[in-house]
Amino acid sequence: MSRAELLAKLEDHGILPTPQRLEVAEILLEKPQHLSADQIIERLCSGGSTVSKATVYNSLNLFRKNGLVAERMVDPERRFYDSTTTAHHHFYNADTRELFDIPFEKIAVSGIPELPAGTRLEGTELIIRVRNNT
Ligand SMILES: [Zn+2]
Repeated sequence: MSRAELLAKLEDHGILPTPQRLEVAEILLEKPQHLSADQIIERLCSGGSTVSKATVYNSLNLFRKNGLVAERMVDPERRFYDSTTTAHHHFYNADTRELFDIPFEKIAVSGIPELPAGTRLEGTELIIRVRNNT
């Protein structure tokens, strides 16, 4: 994604494109992927960036609130930010702590029980947990 495309994308989501936010977005939106805040911080540091940890966390929070990225809570110790915000499922490897996308149409969810009173269905995105064969 070019700098101009990135700028436009942030603006489309109502996010003021500060240089720091652009640096964070550039890493996360580079390709379809799932990164934790720590992984983004590592990449920024190894690229010589001086963006602070707090700025990374604040930027990710803002990106999530404005729908630029999706948050995936699959691991109590690590939240992932997903560059793909449309509905899809995931494999989660509990050994490598990696998420892998599964296209939404690959899984048909059926037999959903009656919803609790006063609620409506919001989504049926699944996380399928796997472990490495040893
Ligand atoms: Zn995903």
